[in-house]
Amino acid sequence: GGAASHVFVVLGASGDLAKKKIYPTLWWLFRDGLLPPKTYFIGYSRSKLTVDDIKKKALPFMKVKNGEEQKVEQFFKINEYIAGSYDSPGDFSKLNKAIEQKGSCNRLFYLALPPTVYESVTLNLKATCMSKSDKWTRVIVEKPFGKDLESSNRLSNHLSALFKEEELYRIDHYLGKEMVQNLMVLRFANRIFSPVWNRDGIASVVISFKEPFGTQGRGGYFDEFGIIRDVMQNHLMQILTLVAMEKPPTTNAEDIRNEKVKVLKSIQPVDIKDTVLGQYVGKPGGKGDEAQGYLDDPTVPKGSVTPTFATAVLHVKNERWDGVPFILRCGKALNERKAEVRIQFKDVAGDIFPDGEVKRNELVIRVQPDEAVYLKMMAKSPGMSFNCEETELDLSYSSRYKDLKLPDAYERLILDVFSGIQINFVRSDELYEAWRIFTPLLNKIETEKPKPITYVYGSRGPKESDKLCHDRDFIYTGTYKWNKPEPA
Ligand code: NAP
Ligand code: NAP
Repeated sequence: GGAASHVFVVLGASGDLAKKKIYPTLWWLFRDGLLPPKTYFIGYSRSKLTVDDIKKKALPFMKVKNGEEQKVEQFFKINEYIAGSYDSPGDFSKLNKAIEQKGSCNRLFYLALPPTVYESVTLNLKATCMSKSDKWTRVIVEKPFGKDLESSNRLSNHLSALFKEEELYRIDHYLGKEMVQNLMVLRFANRIFSPVWNRDGIASVVISFKEPFGTQGRGGYFDEFGIIRDVMQNHLMQILTLVAMEKPPTTNAEDIRNEKVKVLKSIQPVDIKDTVLGQYVGKPGGKGDEAQGYLDDPTVPKGSVTPTFATAVLHVKNERWDGVPFILRCGKALNERKAEVRIQFKDVAGDIFPDGEVKRNELVIRVQPDEAVYLKMMAKSPGMSFNCEETELDLSYSSRYKDLKLPDAYERLILDVFSGIQINFVRSDELYEAWRIFTPLLNKIETEKPKPITYVYGSRGPKESDKLCHDRDFIYTGTYKWNKPEPA
């Protein structure tokens, strides 16, 4: 009972994202006492459901531990569900009444909906469901934010006609990840990195995303987008901007986002000649999924040329980065799950050691799994020898921060929306620039339909990608060996 401070509305509450991510995240935040007191939740979608139905759908994803049963009951007690359509002002009035019954409060609307209904839903929210008086309204939007520059602009213009930028929270969940948030601190709180973080110190930057599984029978959705839209244009570009941007004057959201936009403006559209596009085929003799190629997925259109793997080299034409290749690399059905940033430094000048012994330094920031920052460096081979050998300075989170449970990306981001912190959300002009960089390439792929290079499920991707990296000054020697420390 009592008046609400905040009401959080899940639009599309019957859907996949709602049950897998949003309700579980709200539950974790509630369980850990992180939400403002007197926060209530309302689910809204067309399906005739009850809170109990929502609970049944979400429970398998909520990771409820023994002893938390009562708390779960409390959580669902402060939930409501309203069935309504996405284009009926009358239904949105019902929603508004339900919110008003909770008293004057701040309102959060999460659009967990297919983009086809964004326009009508946001029009109705604006007309009927905004907070009154001194309370705020915030709208959380999920990708896809359009599928090219034009459709993205249309959506941005639509949204900006209805809401102020400070009311809009575009989610790129990579910005909620610990190591992505760490980039700012690593760069701007360490004197040792700042003098070398430029074209004088750095030879190349490789930003990778690898997934060990294919489309698993759901390629129909993926095929409309492809790996460039799914991963590269958003997640990898966000990481790139954090690696490449200038130091913002403060850590305020607007200062940071201004720098991100500025560096994006220095990037030229990707040239198809600077890319390798791939598509996986089944592994001969493989078992189950790994025997299935992309085109074997019955939901994928026959003969599709949609890339499931892409490497693209970007050029940042500014004083800091001119000539340094930024290589973005992402793919499905590869040999491992991994997301990382790899900064390869230039060769030592005036090397005095035997030919080929000294290898380049590399700073690796592993985003997932097993968060780590390690710096590959040379040291004397221990003992009598005077040879050099590759070793590392290693910050592995699992050993440095024992028993630490890092919050999930969505937990941080949803809490940021409550707190009004926009640092880790995508501003309209950032989105515009990211699409400007990729749209010509995407158009070319759509019109010319170049045949992607095939690679085998479970491999590292096409050899041509390694060659492109090599040609752009990313040197792989194959000599580095890592000795995983014994668990203490
Ligand atoms: P979804 O399950 O397909 O849709 C959510 C709800 O929207 C459905 O339960 C349905 O509710 C309604 N809906 C579905 N198709 C509709 C249509 N053609 N017209 C009107 N209403 C329709 O989608 P989702 O997977 O939850 O994703 C929601 C949004 O998040 C999408 O923009 C998606 O791209 C994005 N996203 C999803 C994930 C994920 O893991 N699922 C991850 C990242 C981003 P009713 O029929 O009950 O109204
Ligand atoms: P690496 O094996 O020398 O790989 C460096 C880079 O070269 C990777 O980007 C790799 O691509 C690429 N590469 C691999 N084979 C290639 C080939 N045949 N041609 C061209 N490029 C190739 O060094 P590393 O990955 O930095 O470290 C090796 C292992 O040690 C990794 O498993 C790493 O996780 C582990 N390690 C862990 C920690 C820690 O947890 N703290 C610290 C240090 C090292 P791919 O990305 O496709 O493999």
